[in-house]
Amino acid sequence: MEFELLDWMAQSGHDRVLAVQEARSGLRAWIALHHPRHGRAYGGIRVWNYRSEAEAALDALRLSQAMTYKCVLAGVAGGGAKTVVMADQILDRPRAMARLGEKIQELGGVYRAGPDVGFTVADQEALAKRTHFLAHHGSGLRPAGEATAEGAEYGIRAGLEFLDGECRLEEKVVAIQGLGAVGMALAARLIQAGAKVIGADPDSERTRRAEALGVQVVDAGAIVDAPADVFSPCALGGSLHDLTIQRLRVRLVAGAANNVLARPDHARLLDDRGILFIPDFVLNAGALIEGAGFEREGRTDWQPELLRIGQTVKRVLQRARDDRSTTVEAAHQVAREMLQREIQKTKNRAGASS
Ligand code: NAD
Repeated sequence: MEFELLDWMAQSGHDRVLAVQEARSGLRAWIALHHPRHGRAYGGIRVWNYRSEAEAALDALRLSQAMTYKCVLAGVAGGGAKTVVMADQILDRPRAMARLGEKIQELGGVYRAGPDVGFTVADQEALAKRTHFLAHHGSGLRPAGEATAEGAEYGIRAGLEFLDGECRLEEKVVAIQGLGAVGMALAARLIQAGAKVIGADPDSERTRRAEALGVQVVDAGAIVDAPADVFSPCALGGSLHDLTIQRLRVRLVAGAANNVLARPDHARLLDDRGILFIPDFVLNAGALIEGAGFEREGRTDWQPELLRIGQTVKRVLQRARDDRSTTVEAAHQVAREMLQREIQKTKNRAGASS
């Protein structure tokens, strides 16, 4: 894989990338800090099998840049970062995580790490022994999934308003794929608001709990076929691809699952089918907003900021309509412009004071 790290960083505006290794534990990782806005960068730790160092580094670069866009759109005072750990190289996992924790600690707080794909509770425990620079979600705050579900509800409401001119959740049907931390909390909120909720999860304990809330449970393999107004993917990424998109019987896709489109150009396929797509990174920022805000200010009520997810959704959807672009392209464009304006303002201020 041909790949010039510094060229890539220059083009994407990366601040720094750290290569971290320890032979004894088999730790091989990259920490990419894209843009430490306001002195801080947020991003999860992904533990994944990569075919090469270059592939791992590129993933860290792309994901950290996407995280900056997510922060900018969410109004979070911070930028994006990402750690990727090469899973199949690890020899002693607790030791590898402890070493990674030391490296994060050495960064002095500019990087706030959180969980991502492949990162386990045991990893978190090993890491937390060596660093306290972890994205805050614990003491004093409600579980992350509940904050994410609240933001997702506001995003769904905004999407329906954009389509129909009004929301009227009590007349709507929402099909939720995945009844875990986010999906279950979202189901409860929507039922409370009067919507009909269809849900699916392979975990029978979770579907039992959902039924008790009033969710109409269907088979996990059939949820994409459910006739509804909204399909809300809240399970794993990549669940929307060539085949599942053809089966959808909804007008709006709006869920929390990260990277729900198997490929970015699947946004075009949804468009072609007349289905409006709210990008997951716009909709699922609730826990980021609440966690980052709590860490800075110690405040626990972030409802006004979570409500802004709805405004951002509308702005992105309108931009896509105006530009005839996909909503994913529009979200990136809006974030890039906001970031450029911010960088220009900082430059102007620096120029004025010198
Ligand atoms: P979770 O693990 O608590 O729940 C996921 C659920 O999906 C599980 O109950 C699992 O059994 C179910 N599932 C797996 N495969 C399925 C399938 N084929 N069909 C239906 N259900 C299936 O995870 P979570 O915290 O609720 O997160 C859900 C998604 O949202 C993830 O993609 C996550 O990355 C993303 N996300 C979560 C948060 C958060 O605050 N928790 C924030 C941002 C993004």
